[in-house]
Amino acid sequence: MNYELKIAWLYPDLMSTYGDRGNVIILQKRCQFRGIEVNIENITLETPLSKLKSCSLVFMGGAQDRQQKIVSLDFLKKKSYAVSEMINIGIPALFVCAAYQFAGHYYRPYQGDDIPGAGIFDLITEHQGNQAKRLTGNVAAELVNPSGLNGKTIVGFENHGGRTKLGAKTKPLAKVLKGYGNNGSDGYEGAVYKNAIGSYFHGPILPKNPHLADWLIAKALEVKYKEKAYLKPLDDALENQAHNFMLKKLVHRSVWGIDRKSMLG
Ligand code: GLN
Repeated sequence: MNYELKIAWLYPDLMSTYGDRGNVIILQKRCQFRGIEVNIENITLETPLSKLKSCSLVFMGGAQDRQQKIVSLDFLKKKSYAVSEMINIGIPALFVCAAYQFAGHYYRPYQGDDIPGAGIFDLITEHQGNQAKRLTGNVAAELVNPSGLNGKTIVGFENHGGRTKLGAKTKPLAKVLKGYGNNGSDGYEGAVYKNAIGSYFHGPILPKNPHLADWLIAKALEVKYKEKAYLKPLDDALENQAHNFMLKKLVHRSVWGIDRKSMLG
């Protein structure tokens, strides 16, 4: 059977400040390496809703407060309801940083009014103003959700002023091992709701965390074709080398969170 996936890339022209387009490239390549046909639908301010609804995987990247204000009206008025419906039927999504903030109840920017969110995740985000430091730097965390990935580690780079607080209805993505994560105080990073993942990890997040990319691809195939997806393993030597290099550098651990000492005996 010839499998095909259509990936909705939300606001590629506005929500791509931190190189998150690399995530779309990884999803595309990891599908193509497996013979899965991939089409990327650039969902801009002008794109009709029908194009978005025809997709099987949703991605939206990070941006500065200014672009967030531009996008917010269109996202809230035209697209967020459709994205919520897609997620509620299990379609996987990855929201990074500003997009992650948009997927909550609201984002309070550094200046100006609150930007209402899609309410996909039960969370709020508030910028602490010019006095508060930006949460910036390399970051490592251990996944606690979704099931099937818990225990594995993720590495990336974060750069956000907003502090995110999860509500009772949303599970965290990971436990911070090094860095700040959602707010620099509760020890958690990101959020998971059904097959939607929110994260502050730039880098971009997927190249050094191929297990996350494959999880998204598998979920997209399963929802579209209504059957369990078995992805052919790829040669991830380089990806794992990059992952473990950062893990060792940040938390002196390697190989998916196994402590070096326990490895070396
Ligand atoms: N503008 C938002 C903040 O500063 C999001 C930044 C981002 O997407 N990296 O928190």
